[in-house]
Amino acid sequence: MRFAEVIIDINSSSVDKIYDYIVPEDMELQPGMRVVVDFNRRLIEGFVVGIKETSEIHISKLKSVVKLIDSKPVLTGKQLVLAHWMKERYLCHLVEALKCIMPVGSSKSMETARMMITLRVSEDEVVRFISSNSRNTRQVAVLSELLKNKLHPLAASQVIKATGADYSVLKRLKEMGLVDIFYGDVDKNPYTSYRCSLSGKLKLTAEQRMALDEIKKGLDAGSGKYLLHGVTGSGKTEVFLQAIEYNIEKGKDAIVLVPEISLTPQTIERFKSRFNDAVAVLHSRLSEGERADQWKKIRDGKVKIVIGVRSGVFAPFKNLGLVIVDEEHENTYKQSDMRPKYDAREVAEKRCEMEGAVLVLASATPSVLSYYRAQQGQFKLLELKKRINSNNMPCVQIVDMRQELMAGNRSIFSRALYQEIKRALAKREQMILFLNRRGYYTFVSCRMCGFVMKCPHCNISMTYHVEGKLRCHYCGYSEDVPSVCPSCGQKSIRYFGIGTERVEKEIKRLFPEIRVLRMDVDTTRRKGSFERIYNAFKNREADVLIGTQMISKGLDFPGVSLVGVITADTALNFPDYNASERTFQLITQVAGRAGRGDGVGRVIVQTYYPDHYAILCARDHDYEGFYRKEIAFREKTGYPPFSELAVFTLSGLDDEIVMENSKLLYDIINVCNDGSVEVFAPVPALLHKLKDRYRWNIVLKSRHGDKLRRVISLSYDRIKEIGSKDILVSYDINYVTLA
Ligand code: ADP
Ligand code: ZN
Repeated sequence: MRFAEVIIDINSSSVDKIYDYIVPEDMELQPGMRVVVDFNRRLIEGFVVGIKETSEIHISKLKSVVKLIDSKPVLTGKQLVLAHWMKERYLCHLVEALKCIMPVGSSKSMETARMMITLRVSEDEVVRFISSNSRNTRQVAVLSELLKNKLHPLAASQVIKATGADYSVLKRLKEMGLVDIFYGDVDKNPYTSYRCSLSGKLKLTAEQRMALDEIKKGLDAGSGKYLLHGVTGSGKTEVFLQAIEYNIEKGKDAIVLVPEISLTPQTIERFKSRFNDAVAVLHSRLSEGERADQWKKIRDGKVKIVIGVRSGVFAPFKNLGLVIVDEEHENTYKQSDMRPKYDAREVAEKRCEMEGAVLVLASATPSVLSYYRAQQGQFKLLELKKRINSNNMPCVQIVDMRQELMAGNRSIFSRALYQEIKRALAKREQMILFLNRRGYYTFVSCRMCGFVMKCPHCNISMTYHVEGKLRCHYCGYSEDVPSVCPSCGQKSIRYFGIGTERVEKEIKRLFPEIRVLRMDVDTTRRKGSFERIYNAFKNREADVLIGTQMISKGLDFPGVSLVGVITADTALNFPDYNASERTFQLITQVAGRAGRGDGVGRVIVQTYYPDHYAILCARDHDYEGFYRKEIAFREKTGYPPFSELAVFTLSGLDDEIVMENSKLLYDIINVCNDGSVEVFAPVPALLHKLKDRYRWNIVLKSRHGDKLRRVISLSYDRIKEIGSKDILVSYDINYVTLA
């Protein structure tokens, strides 16, 4: 007799263990398959994580597996090991980790094809139907969509999305004999085999060659961890491309992680033009079905390279040889908004260790943590210190905005920046103005009584936008600006703060002939708009691009000679231990956009903290100098990498109850703690009220990650048991920001 070890697909800590079920005689069950089982008299799906000959539990108490979902295992043994590791590291349930690793809707089998729809009658007949039934707008929309696609079958979900019709409309059309609905594969194109267009391959510089040779050694050995520190424009991507090519020659697959797909159109183009169809791109806007399709392609070995965001690290390659994490310092690699709160850089490292693959972390501004680990010998440091074509690094000038005020300049542009803009404009050179705040004015208040217009759902000041509304950037609430102060009734509403919209208006006022593009969340909401703005600027259809940190990433505009940072202080004003690190990274990355073509670029950085080391080191392109100062500060204060940090967040509709529960949790933590964890008293979160919920934080810090996790785990279980049921409690280990 055989027994299956099953993880039940219920997300609850009381169910987060392995249950034994009897495998029926005739069932061909293997580990990694999904099954349906009877769990407390409900039919529930589960993952089979093991099969054994005996069970500790008496057979009379065991039930049989009801049925198989998959005919082949959907999870490998390695993936199961990875899931266990994630459970320990991020304190999540095994089933949460499994669903992350195999992200298909649980009720839908991987083997099940997708619902497809196609026309059953001739084009003429469809056109005739449409002209005589124009009132049935939904039906007409579906048929037009099918016509538009030249009679090829389409995925039903895609048609539904494009037309707004629901399934009943498709069914009705089928009943009328106009369409066919069947199950099949969208990806009808036969797989074209991998070709490497050698023509694109560049002759490497000496630095690039040295870096590549090191990585190749790792690929030969089937292990190795590298930190590639290369200044902006030093040719890191070319090193990746040639490392991947070598990896493919060895018959292996590669994963390339990027912070956000939409921000790296150029990089993806370069990969596609070099490796053609061997590349699959996994971005966050894929539907569940599209995602499952890509997953299947990867699993079946139809692609050799995956370029993806955070979750791409789970790409189910069977023959993984190389994982590259580009812009490894970016916070988007850490999942913060849902469980498991994993870090893709750590998962990548774990996978590489388990699967005999090479890890390459790369950045112009490596995270302090990674650089520290390189110093400790855990990563091999590879450096590209020169820009390609020996282009000089841009010349960075810091402007003290206090001096500007003293000199009577109240404009958002310092005198130096104004002069540079004027000069660039006269020479027809392009420029970028950076500001990490969107909107027009960033807060609105009453001059008489000091009342600030805040969102009624969030305790946060609202932003005034050009169309005349106040908007909350956290929940989307908007309202008109009141003509009198809601508090004192005076006509004394005043506007403060600088957002990207104001920069746009201001520069147009000062230079009426200037052609402006703006790139922020507000101008890129619609699909394709990012690319449109990007291409327009690239084609020199504008003189200036104004944007938020969206424009600080890998974009390469050869025509840009001037970069202006309107204020460098946004990140510095956050009370996070890594505020300096983020400021240094941001200024360096934005400055790196200047002078990538010919000639020396100029960068003007406006700040109220002109003496801050993050700003000074960014000016001097001095990564090591910054690192030395920062690591000394971290060591003195015991912040990461000298400890691990975690935060509990409690939230609820009643501030009083949230506070009381925070105090209760604080006491529980102190009882669980053997003294190896430093626990900070509960405080209201920076975003104290968010979407009508009040929030409190408790921060924990420890040099002993295992003890930290034990305390979190014990106290979490306890507060769930005895705390108020109206309160939500969550934790985040090695969180990115304490908002
Ligand atoms: P990074 O990723 O370090 O910012 P890129 O890889 O984008 O730098 O390289 C910057 C530019 O230099 C790109 O336009 C790239 O095509 C070019 N480039 C890279 N390596 C070489 C090389 N060995 N020879 C000539 N041009 C190169
Ligand atoms: Zn709000």
